[in-house]
Amino acid sequence: MTQAINSTQALYRCLPAMDSLLLIPQVIGFIDQQGKLWIKSLLAQMLKDARQQIAERQSLPSWCLDISNITTELASRISKAQRQSMSPVINLTGTILHTNLGRSQMCEAAIDAVTQVMRSPVPLEFDMGQGKRGHRDSAISTLIHELTGADSCCIVNNNAAAVLLMLAATASGKEVIVSRGELVEIGGAFRIPDIMAQAGCKLVEVGCTNRTHLKDYAAAITENTAAIMKVHTSNYHISGFTKVTEEAELAALCKEQGIALISDLGSGALTDLSRFGLSKEPMPQQMLKDGVNLVSFSGDKLLGGPQAGLVVGDAELIAKLQAHPLKRALRCDKMTLAALEATLMQYRNPQTLDSQLPIFRKLSRPLVELDRLAQTLQQQLADSSIFDITIQACQTQVGSGSQPDVLLDSVALCFAVNPAAAKGHSSLTVLQLDKHFKAASTPIIGRITANQLWLDLRGTDSDSQLIEVLTTSLLRFHREMGFHREIGFEEKTGEAAS
Ligand SMILES: *Cc1c(COP(=O)(O)O)cnc(C)c1O
Repeated sequence: MTQAINSTQALYRCLPAMDSLLLIPQVIGFIDQQGKLWIKSLLAQMLKDARQQIAERQSLPSWCLDISNITTELASRISKAQRQSMSPVINLTGTILHTNLGRSQMCEAAIDAVTQVMRSPVPLEFDMGQGKRGHRDSAISTLIHELTGADSCCIVNNNAAAVLLMLAATASGKEVIVSRGELVEIGGAFRIPDIMAQAGCKLVEVGCTNRTHLKDYAAAITENTAAIMKVHTSNYHISGFTKVTEEAELAALCKEQGIALISDLGSGALTDLSRFGLSKEPMPQQMLKDGVNLVSFSGDKLLGGPQAGLVVGDAELIAKLQAHPLKRALRCDKMTLAALEATLMQYRNPQTLDSQLPIFRKLSRPLVELDRLAQTLQQQLADSSIFDITIQACQTQVGSGSQPDVLLDSVALCFAVNPAAAKGHSSLTVLQLDKHFKAASTPIIGRITANQLWLDLRGTDSDSQLIEVLTTSLLRFHREMGFHREIGFEEKTGEAAS
């Protein structure tokens, strides 16, 4: 017992003093680059971790044993702390607009526009001598008018904010009528009844889950009704014995009764998606034609732009939204507005949309190309692997509540454990491979179904990058599992130890 205490205390005595660490030339070099405050706090953490290791395991970390190890350890802690949490990943999940992976990717024009406004002052709300000091949404408003025919628009943080503002500014303290078939929940916190309550509106439910008629709406209108609201059932579909009252019918009723017709459209496609084999999404421009007064939709779903919420429609109502105190709290910054403007400009030329916007580039990529990519990958990886690698047909979903029923044909590269090749590693699972791919220099994110890891190739941005990352990562996996010698994987792929 006494001996153990003595040896533990001997270990504590081996720990260097902070002052002596700060005198090591390489550490001084790091201080010159990174500042004393931060480097000192990293060193303090190293000493704290070392004391913990002594207390728990009666041993010293290897960096304590030699000066060069101290600087290696410090360098590795610096580089780990400097790694950005939002580094790029390759989304092969089979969901193109993945909310947890940041939804839409921007077009190059949007990236350029954002870079510029980040660097320089820009006339966001400034009178440039033309006599009118427009509000920050004016430029987009002009574009939206050009593209959808809407009188005016209001841009906020996301579509949830758009719905909140739309309700608060047009119907606070009043009744809003919604069909029981449209009381939507969009993931966790966004639920129509809750948003209504937050906006200070009284929700009046009408009809049934599967059928709501014009007369149901008409019967619910009182002198306290401010609006009828339609909600696009973007993430579910009711089929069978159903009846939905269309916007055009409701518009006539609302006009006659002097109330507003508002619509939460969700994904807001500004272009017809049937060219990809997807079914027609309702488009804002059509809703406005049908007589809806305000339509709201997201910027980062099928529009393919930045996270934003757009409310488009009647100038008089939009002016109320712009003047509401919540607008100030929900407004977008210059980066979002610049990215949105550049994205919307792409819609002036529908012919080039499929090549310019990443979302449409992926949706329009021909199956034969995906097949060719799958074969290239299979040839590079397959017969030297402890996994059976097969090419399988799969289906991509658009995601983010867009088009829940509609799937696009695609091709997947599938990994399953090859029991013969993996003998001696009976515990090997595709879960380990999935984890390994997620730790790659550019993490590859697939999906596991029925003991197979599926990589849906429709999510690929760059074929050459995918080939490179996948070969390197799989090789490293083999090496870490001790397989490379048995199956000669290294010779085959020409990847020397790196
Ligand atoms: C996606 C969606 C929302 C929420 O939009 P965010 O941009 O994610 O805030 C609201 N309503 C509907 C119908 C939607 O589809």
